[in-house]
Amino acid sequence: MVPVRPPALMRLFWPGLLWRMPAHHRTLYLTFDDGPTPEVTPWVLDTLREHDARGTFFLVGSNAEIHPALVQRIRSEGHAIGNHTYSHLNGWRATARDYSADADRAQALTGTRLFRPPYGRITRRQSAELRKRFTVVMWDALSMDFDARVAPEACLHNVLKHARAGSIIVFHDSRKAEMRLRHALPLALQAWREQGYRFAALPEEMCITPQRR
Ligand SMILES: [Zn+2]
Repeated sequence: MVPVRPPALMRLFWPGLLWRMPAHHRTLYLTFDDGPTPEVTPWVLDTLREHDARGTFFLVGSNAEIHPALVQRIRSEGHAIGNHTYSHLNGWRATARDYSADADRAQALTGTRLFRPPYGRITRRQSAELRKRFTVVMWDALSMDFDARVAPEACLHNVLKHARAGSIIVFHDSRKAEMRLRHALPLALQAWREQGYRFAALPEEMCITPQRR
């Protein structure tokens, strides 16, 4: 089972990866992986707009290639874009060279300095290679919306329980997550707004010290 909040040890094992943004402001960083998806991404964009929220979309290159208008819409509405490899590669099953080449192929379609490894799986060697060109973004809280065994209410609970100032929170704008996402995202946005949070895109040109805890 993937931990909803990564344990401190896991963060220490991966120095130089970004798990959380500085907590100076009451800001949350919502991220959406695996799109763009025509059935889901426009709804996410509409929902974010209703809450005056910006987020970050970690795009799969092969999806970005098929849906350039959605990529354009994400950018034009003030959100950030991240690279999530071209073919959603599992780093544990790919050589460092293949992994890097797949990220480069997606880079031609995403043009960003942010990278998130699919499944959160990346070797130290791949990470060292990618960090020459990217900020490698992990997370502070997972909604688990990609997991069909998790109830929609539990996805909502996961993010509400674990979000704190500076949290990087993972959702998925994919068909697989859609049912859980459509339940959890609007309710979470509403609850967080009532708690005084704002929602920002990750800066694509980042020069910050990764937070360890
Ligand atoms: Zn993914």
